Formats: sequence, C-alpha cells, structure tokens
Amino acid sequence: KNNVLFTASPGERDVPSSFLRHLGVETRTQHPDEEVVLEGSLKKAEWRDPFIGTDEVLKDMLEIISLNPTSLNNYMRCRRKFLYDNVLMLPGPKKQSLIFGNSVHSGLEHLYREYIRTGKFPDFQFFKDRFIESLKFQGLEKAMELRCMEQFEGLRKYYDKISSKPVKPLGLENRMPINIDGIVFTGKYDKLELEDEENGLVRVVDYKTGQAKNHTAGIHGIRSLEDESCDEYLRQLVCYKLLYERDKTREHKHYTVSHGVLVFVEPAKDDIRKYGVKKGEPSEFKIEITEDMVDEMVSIIKNSWRNMQDLRFEKLEKRDPKKCGNCDFDYICWT
Ligand code: SF4
Repeated sequence: KNNVLFTASPGERDVPSSFLRHLGVETRTQHPDEEVVLEGSLKKAEWRDPFIGTDEVLKDMLEIISLNPTSLNNYMRCRRKFLYDNVLMLPGPKKQSLIFGNSVHSGLEHLYREYIRTGKFPDFQFFKDRFIESLKFQGLEKAMELRCMEQFEGLRKYYDKISSKPVKPLGLENRMPINIDGIVFTGKYDKLELEDEENGLVRVVDYKTGQAKNHTAGIHGIRSLEDESCDEYLRQLVCYKLLYERDKTREHKHYTVSHGVLVFVEPAKDDIRKYGVKKGEPSEFKIEITEDMVDEMVSIIKNSWRNMQDLRFEKLEKRDPKKCGNCDFDYICWT
C-alpha cells in the first residue's frame, strides 16, 4: 500500500493517535470526495518482498523453534511456506482431509490402547465412536462432519483386516525428542511393532489417509532422499528410525528399526499391480530403512537448519501449479 488512511468522526473530544506523532506524520483535515478516497485506498505500491527489513524479528522467532519430520518436509517443498506455516504460524482454513486424517489416527490409537489394556480387540463401533469423538472435538461445521462420517465407512475393510489377526504394538504415538548438534528434532510414530525378536528388529507403522497411487513413484526406487521426486512419507519413515534409535528415554534400548510400513487405510480407487495395490482394498508398503538413509537424513536436517539460520525463506522461483495450487498462500505469493 502506498497510502494509509486514518479516518475519524470529527468531534470535540477526538484525540489524534499518538502513533502518528511517533511516526512524524502531520495530521491534516481533509474533506475529499468519496470516490477519491476509495480510489486512493485501492492503489498499490510497487511490489516488494514483504520480508525485507525483518531479519532481526525472524532471528528471534527462529530461536524458539524445533524441527520435526513434517516441518522439515515443508521446508524442502517450499521455504516460504515453511516460514508462513512453521515460523509465523499463520492460521489456515479448516481442511476436511486433515481433520479426517487426525480423527482416523485418534480412533486407531484408542483402538490399540484398548486392545493393550484389555487383551481383547474392540469392535468396529468402538473405533467409530472414538473417531466421532475426535471429529466433534475439532468443531466442524455440520456438512463437513457428515462428509467425514460417510468417508469413515470406507475403513470397514481395513478394520476387518486388522481385527482378523490383531498385532499387539510395542509402542503407540510415542514422542521422541533428540538433539542433533544443537538442533532439537522431534516426532512421533503412530505404532511400533516387533519385526524379528531374535535379531532385535522392530518396524514403525505410519497410517495414511488418501490414495496410495499418489505416492508410489516417490517411495519406490528413488535415488536420494533430498531429491525433489522423493516422497515425503518415505523421509518421514527414515526420520522415525533416526528418532527412535537416538531417543535416550526409550523403553526397549536393544531394538533397532529395520523397516517402515506405510498403511493407506482407505480403499484404493485403482489397481496398481506393480506395487500390490488392489482396487477397493486398503494397501501397505513395507520399506527397508538402512543406516545410509539415516545418515543422509541427518545431513539434510543439518543443511536445512543452516539455511534457516541464514534466513533462506525465499518463495519458489516461479509459480508451481502443483505446489502453489494446493497452498493456502498462493494469493499472497502470486497476486
Ligand atoms: S504459494 Fe507457492 S511459493 Fe508461495 S508459499 Fe505456497 S508453495 Fe511456496
């Protein structure tokens, strides 16, 4: 904006804002035409990056942030988006997909906690009730709530699968904060299961809502975790191995993570034979997680952190329809 309009109703007891004096702005009483005022208020100044001159403020804000697998992925996708979401924490609109996903996670966590507590796997209604409780807690508008409940019915197949041969988890939703050369890195897996007792191996399980087909290419056969084509879910699994094995407070110190499992709990809309995805069924990808992957992840975390400290929060070079089209800040960056 190149104009600031300060308006007040003229009256004896009106006092001009003291901020105007601090800013060295002379107040003038004018009576311009309404059209002139409107035209002036809509004029835009020449485009400038809104973060010019904010270095000190951003450095202050960075002092109190920690990283987690989701925020790290966010930074790798777009540095400016990380700034908006994870540093400035700008609020965004409620998204059905996010709320549905949170509620499914909560329902599954309660399901397995109850199983651990009682030794009996709860029925589908128990799962559904916990899902609805979580949904209501998030204060949705009625229409969105109904759509989420309808979508939940698609999880019956997944429930049938896990209830026919229940596996008792070793851990659930466990938060693991670690320190990597002064960087606080934290995160929590959904579920930890035994993979091979004799060899002390465990697997981390991560539930996902949405379609597996959007992730197959970036999970299987990628060259590097840093690569743009690498799926964010794969990086998350590697982070969980890193977090679990470096967490000094963990209960089972002799276990190491050999695999990560991504479980797409909703029925697939299409067959993907190559990766064993069957239309109408939930799907699972089990991936071996190696030490080399963890080493690469550590160097990604350190490099990203260094770039953040150097205030590298630039937006993408040009508008990316895929990334920006799904981003809440599209209108800020590109209009
Ligand atoms: S609109 Fe594009 S450039 Fe802007 S923050 Fe979002 S992803 Fe980044």
